[in-house]
Amino acid sequence: MPELPEVEVTRQRIGPLLVGRRIRSVATTRPSYLFLTRPAALRRGLVGRTVRALERRGKYLVAPLDDGARLVIHLGMTGQLFSGEATSPRLLSASARSTLPPEDQAGFRPDGHTHLRLAFEDRGPEVFLRDVRKFGKVLLLGSGESHERLDRLGVDALELSGAALFAASRGRRAAAKALLLDQSVATGIGNIYADEALFRARLRPTRRAGSLSRRDCDALAEAVRAVLRRSIETGGSSIRDYVAPDGSDGAYQDERRVYGRKGAECLVCGARIRRVLVAQRSTHYCPTCQR
Ligand SMILES: [Zn+2]
Repeated sequence: MPELPEVEVTRQRIGPLLVGRRIRSVATTRPSYLFLTRPAALRRGLVGRTVRALERRGKYLVAPLDDGARLVIHLGMTGQLFSGEATSPRLLSASARSTLPPEDQAGFRPDGHTHLRLAFEDRGPEVFLRDVRKFGKVLLLGSGESHERLDRLGVDALELSGAALFAASRGRRAAAKALLLDQSVATGIGNIYADEALFRARLRPTRRAGSLSRRDCDALAEAVRAVLRRSIETGGSSIRDYVAPDGSDGAYQDERRVYGRKGAECLVCGARIRRVLVAQRSTHYCPTCQR
């Protein structure tokens, strides 16, 4: 699932391909739960508009337009926002890929999973939203219109402070990891980054949130920011269907210390990494380094 770093990397890479460009035409798939704004209304609202910016609110991408409206996109589980210049063969299905000679595997042709396709007046690269499982969302907000999905977001995880984390943890019996995953505490910390941040802060994911000291919370907030920043720098994780918007693969997966390493040796102390369930999520930690 694209998490905050992947969404931020998408924003950074796709932003220049959207900003300042006037939309010439919009193609969509048929109405479905992916479209919070019906496709016909989406086409009417977008054609002729110029994109002013591409911003991120938690895991939502928000593109203000020149008439004050905002195009809002959530990538869900398998959403990919990329340009017509993407070249990853992973964008093709395995069967389609296997039938192509290597020289034809570059480039992308819109398929049945390409739910939104934006073409521009300048006739340059198109921008596609592709989502195989359709848990993503597309929404067009009119000028001045708000939406509960955006309104209820907590502080962005990249700006999480130890003080805020400490305040949110007081009196909570839930596990420290559950605190990190609570989107009203901080928005955008997913499963992988919660595990990696807890390892970096040397705190056990199962620790009761209310038992964390102010110093623990400072270390944990710092670890959250560092882990997310590092992942953004390396282009995000590359897992399952996630492909960076330009078709390149993220490198962060090479830097994971605990996530997905059950039974492997801790890179710090050599103990075996353990996996347990916390808040119904697969959770990894080092029994020696994390207390
Ligand atoms: Zn260790």
